[in-house]
Amino acid sequence: MSSRIFIDTIKEFLKKISGVRWYLIYNIDENKVTIKSPIMSEDKISDLIEISKASKLLIEKTGRVALISSTKEPLVNTIYVKLNGEGVEIEKLESNILLIGIDEKLLNTLSEIFASARRGELIKCNICGKEIHFETYTCPRCGRVVPFIAETCLFCRYDLRYKKCPGHGDVIDYRGRIVKRQYGVILITALISGAILFFTGFVSTIYREYGILLYSLGGLITALLITIGVLSSKPRVL
Ligand SMILES: [Zn+2]
Ligand SMILES: [Zn+2]
Repeated sequence: MSSRIFIDTIKEFLKKISGVRWYLIYNIDENKVTIKSPIMSEDKISDLIEISKASKLLIEKTGRVALISSTKEPLVNTIYVKLNGEGVEIEKLESNILLIGIDEKLLNTLSEIFASARRGELIKCNICGKEIHFETYTCPRCGRVVPFIAETCLFCRYDLRYKKCPGHGDVIDYRGRIVKRQYGVILITALISGAILFFTGFVSTIYREYGILLYSLGGLITALLITIGVLSSKPRVL
């Protein structure tokens, strides 16, 4: 992947993600700046360019910049600063310095995404090969847009381990791995429920006065079993 396409992919990704307020990309080789921001003063922009240049030095001179985030996880090659109380993540990707104004909730996931991109490890769907590393996903609970490879929603913690691949449309896990529903469990619970319904139906023809009671008992057990079946047949990584 050429670095031009690469940085365009990242721009598209950052534009969609909830909690990214703005970004500034400083290309070292071309001395060029790209900005996405609703409102940003000239002063702030020139400040940010100065910070980009300083960050380039810091990253290059120290080799491995490990700062400690609020979650105490060391973030290798990620710099996180607060500018006037606003969180800014700083990343170096090839000859680009990225300054991203973010909600702190995004920090660990974004820095992990950039770290593996730097290592050239882009996550792909194991079935169709679609690259999902910079894909996004709308949380069905809170409606915010998060990285596709997030395990849970970064805002409401909703479980996002299993979702449909944007490439081939079937369910995969958040690392692109193949998942399968345990259909056997549904089948077994359905068979047992069928047997119970048949039995209660049969008994109620003998004890007609308990007919309604027996039928509803059978129905209740069936409903319970089917619920258990569906819940325990959740998709799992193969
Ligand atoms: Zn796929
Ligand atoms: Zn959510």
